Amino acid sequence: MEEYLAELNDAQRAPVLQKDGPMIVIAGAGSGKTRVLTYRIAYLMHQGVDSFNILSLTFTNKAAREMKKRISTIVGASEAKNLWMGTFHSIFAKILRFEADKLGYPSNFTIYDTQDSQRLVASVIKEMGLDKDIYKYKQVYSRISSYKNSLITVKAYFQNGELVEADAMAKRPRMGEIYQHYVDRCFKAGAMDFDDLLLKTNELLNRFPEVLSKYQNRFRYILVDEYQDTNHSQYLIVRALSDKFQNICVVGDDAQSIYAFRGANINNILNFQRDYDNVQQYRLEQNYRSTKNIVEAANSIIDKNKTKLDKVVWTANDPGPKIIVNRLLTDADEGRYVASSIFENQMNHQLDNGNFAILYRTNAQSRSIEDALRKRDIKYRIYGGLSFYQRKEIKDVLGYLRLIINPKDEEALKRVINYPARGIGGTTVDKLIVAANHYDRSIFEVIENLDRINLKINSGTKTRLENFMNMIKSFQVTNQTSDAFVLSEIVAKKTGLLQELKKDGTPEGIARIENIEELLNGIRDFVEGQKEVVDSKGSLAEFLEDVALATDLDQDTGDDDRVALMTIHLAKGLEFPYVYIVGMEEDLFPSGMSMNTRSELEEERRLFYVALTRAEKQAYLTYTQSRYRWGKLVDAEPSRFIEEIDDKFLEYLTPVEGYRYKPLIDADIFGEVDKSKLRLKKPVSGAPPLAHKPNEEQLRKLRKLRPVSNGSTNTDNNTNLFDQELIPGSVVEHMRFGIGKIIKIEGVGQDKKAEINFEKGGIKKLLLRFAKLKVI
Ligand code: ATP
Ligand code: MG
Repeated sequence: MEEYLAELNDAQRAPVLQKDGPMIVIAGAGSGKTRVLTYRIAYLMHQGVDSFNILSLTFTNKAAREMKKRISTIVGASEAKNLWMGTFHSIFAKILRFEADKLGYPSNFTIYDTQDSQRLVASVIKEMGLDKDIYKYKQVYSRISSYKNSLITVKAYFQNGELVEADAMAKRPRMGEIYQHYVDRCFKAGAMDFDDLLLKTNELLNRFPEVLSKYQNRFRYILVDEYQDTNHSQYLIVRALSDKFQNICVVGDDAQSIYAFRGANINNILNFQRDYDNVQQYRLEQNYRSTKNIVEAANSIIDKNKTKLDKVVWTANDPGPKIIVNRLLTDADEGRYVASSIFENQMNHQLDNGNFAILYRTNAQSRSIEDALRKRDIKYRIYGGLSFYQRKEIKDVLGYLRLIINPKDEEALKRVINYPARGIGGTTVDKLIVAANHYDRSIFEVIENLDRINLKINSGTKTRLENFMNMIKSFQVTNQTSDAFVLSEIVAKKTGLLQELKKDGTPEGIARIENIEELLNGIRDFVEGQKEVVDSKGSLAEFLEDVALATDLDQDTGDDDRVALMTIHLAKGLEFPYVYIVGMEEDLFPSGMSMNTRSELEEERRLFYVALTRAEKQAYLTYTQSRYRWGKLVDAEPSRFIEEIDDKFLEYLTPVEGYRYKPLIDADIFGEVDKSKLRLKKPVSGAPPLAHKPNEEQLRKLRKLRPVSNGSTNTDNNTNLFDQELIPGSVVEHMRFGIGKIIKIEGVGQDKKAEINFEKGGIKKLLLRFAKLKVI
């Protein structure tokens, strides 16, 4: 047997070894579904399948990169290079570029991000003279998005009486017209939005049998991860492409379907058997990721859902510690607790930041956590907030770059035509748009033909427009001969963008300049990196495509060690040794907006299942008594999901009067110590005493808590430590690590820590209040 196949259990090996035919692997979290896909690809290649014939679709590009890396180590990097792996959007964007002309698009079409799309919708609404309070552009955009994901084209919309009526009932009778204008404008701008990447792929495969046949023959083996979260449009693409050879392997977990709100259709997984002949079904039951406590607690949660497939998930891993539940007074307290707990775990177990993740239901919750982490000097990275590429100064530079590649790009043009200010005002732009609509041309084409149309603009403005056009054209010439990095540097300077920010001189302005530098560095790295890729020149067009399709997780440069902060939705498929799930409160999680129906509540419960099953060693659940939401302090109640976990898996931390929380002690590292003596001696400064009286339910739980001393007369035998002359250079002895020399002392009071170079153990950072150091 090939060596790598031994890294699979029998149940996992079966789908890997079934080379041909349709198959589905339905299995719970952490049971190795992604591993099966990865090894299956390696196995196919060992069986002589050309990497060119394999297509693998993943939830993020990062996941695809990681899989590819693993495959490279098995089959060799050069073999793995040609594999097509990535998100639906990135793979089909590539295919659409090859085939763009068939759909009447230029191959250099722009990909509009959500912001571009929303702006365009807003301007269509304005141009149509509609009430923007009734036609809210974000809502309108999301309607359009959902039509597209259900493959409802403009024509289909107007033919669908129910839809038309529903919009009329919602007092938006002109939805269809907005949709029509939006689609026309995108087309004229040579732009596709995110949903188009799937919609147009479907159109391509439907309308052009020879194109379908070409890709069917090419992608003889198709694999899809996280199949439970595919939407209808994605489903149809997979179905069409796999129809000829039927070598399709999908893996998923119905219990982790969490994107129904965005059109994901769990029936795709349930109906798979019906769609293909002789489907082999595989189940994996052993979880390798998490402790018994976590696995069993997660099972007990998902059990409460009525709509689910019966599945077994068990683990041979250790029971592990119980799930810690902690109640805090406010969200600021919650942040402080999480930061302290991470800090202590790091000290106790000598762990890097990368071992920790903090997960929340909504992005807005990150702020209080961030504040606390910053105070503790713990490095973190937020995923999926405002991404780097969404920042204004970055979008400005990208706006120019996009125009160079596709001068028809209307959103890019509107963005930069008068930034930095060059005397082309809003009225002029409006006139250009009217003319563009009238002649059915792009705005740039209107500028190119100013001499031939009477726009009623003065000659000064006309000159300025022409200067702008000539600048873009000169960049286009440079683009013929320079790589993306050189060109971008020229753009940043020649357009006056950098100059504009330098003039600003404020700290924000300086930060923006740094961001632009960061972007340029990124472009340089990209150009360097692309040189290794087959058929790539590191061109500007390639860079822009990469940027447009970067998913929220792809900002990870992987070069440094940070605590990960993200929404639970984004955490799907990932794993971390320590996971903190914060904001476990009614109305927040489950979300107040998702409690109207059983199915909504069940989706929230699946979300909680996803969150908990990310943890390998230890999970923490926190909730507050009151929290700032929408600028107000509101009362909070513990989430029903905490109640739903069997108490035997939980350990409630006691918020004792005057104590913020009970620190965690690891006797293994610190030797046999009297744990009761190691609690915080004084309240952390500013910590308000708990001012609540527990209710019956809380009392019931409090009685189960571990014993806690009353904290008043604690004579902590570690206090002596603080009196000792511990300075850099001191030689100390530690019970376990032996003799070492202090390199650095940091922090004060409870947080004081020493970096020590131990003769035997190397460099360790220890928290002085726990490390029983003896000065020698
Ligand atoms: P999720 O549902 O969260 O996406 P999954 O089913 O895709 O989970 P994987 O991520 O593939 O699970 O595997 C979970 C963890 O268990 C990974 O760290 C993986 O490397 C490990 N693992 C899977 N199978 C085995 C095995 N047979 N032996 C050892 N470790 C394994
Ligand atoms: Mg997975």
